[in-house]
Amino acid sequence: MRHPLVMGNWKLNGNTHMVNELIAALRAELSTVEGCGVAIAPPEVYLSQAKHALSGSRIVLGAQNVDSNLSGAFTGEISADMLKDVGAKYIIIGHSERRTYHKESDELIAKKFGVLKAAGLTPVLCIGETDAENEAGQTQAVCAKQLDAVLSTLGAEAFQGAVIAYEPVWAIGTGKSATPAQAQAVHKFIRDHIAKQDAAVAEQVIIQYGGSVNAANAAELFTQPDIDGALVGGASLKADAFAVIVKAA
Ligand code: PEP
Repeated sequence: MRHPLVMGNWKLNGNTHMVNELIAALRAELSTVEGCGVAIAPPEVYLSQAKHALSGSRIVLGAQNVDSNLSGAFTGEISADMLKDVGAKYIIIGHSERRTYHKESDELIAKKFGVLKAAGLTPVLCIGETDAENEAGQTQAVCAKQLDAVLSTLGAEAFQGAVIAYEPVWAIGTGKSATPAQAQAVHKFIRDHIAKQDAAVAEQVIIQYGGSVNAANAAELFTQPDIDGALVGGASLKADAFAVIVKAA
């Protein structure tokens, strides 16, 4: 039995004041919610502060990235052990903004997946097609290729306890969400693709939808059988909107 997970990706937003204010508001809004996992991924510099502010709440700490190296001369990077040390659990990798602006390859992302699993952390693997790929009918091929980078190096068992976020690039931050039926079709494809290697792992893996999820469209998306919650960008910066999404899941 899968439980949905709603995770907020704060991206490059926040300051010390905002971190405390937003977490306090989320704690108040979500104090009675049950049956849905909730996580937030503030910028790395605020992780310890956020961990402290979340103390005693059921909201879990996440992070937006990890380096594929474990330690050493990699200026500016953050390791899986460091994330674990400050109390982060769900770690976003392969976000389209990192694939695009930082030229992260499928192979690098698979390596990040491996270091997170080895550290006992939960990868939140973002996959999804661009607008052009969607128009060209390549959605399934793109998702399969992005999944295969992990499947071929780590095997289907690596997805045991992991999270996949299907995030069509054309829907991220655009206000144009996939329809529930569109998203469901891709989520089912993703689950079936993993099931070809391991049906039990495919059945339990959480597949979030991400891309302009908001308080108005979340409930309908969550009616779909293979949509297990959401990865939320813009709407995760507003406690009331994020709480509506969590409650809908
Ligand atoms: C994201 O960045 O992962 C995301 C889904 O953003 P938004 O909700 O703003 O589209």
